[in-house]
Amino acid sequence: MRQGSLRQQIMDLLGQEEMNSLQISQAVGVAEKDVASHLEHISRTLARTARTLSIEPPACLGCGYIFKERKRLQRPGRCPRCKGSHIRMATYRIS
Ligand SMILES: [Zn+2]
Repeated sequence: MRQGSLRQQIMDLLGQEEMNSLQISQAVGVAEKDVASHLEHISRTLARTARTLSIEPPACLGCGYIFKERKRLQRPGRCPRCKGSHIRMATYRIS
């Protein structure tokens, strides 16, 4: 599948519902590790339009810490506060 149509497919999905990178990877058939780079590209594409990619940041399920400062769309490994590794994945939506 061409990159362009793949990203279009992701944009269509996120316009309909909020999804995390795992759900996106399964829905469009790309590796989960590649989802972040597609989202970064989509976010740049949307910057030229009236639509925006909103990101619900990842949060620690152990202590509730929210990973707000993260600029890159990668999944964090560990909580800096409680060192727990149960992290709720970031979710994405286009509105
Ligand atoms: Zn924590």
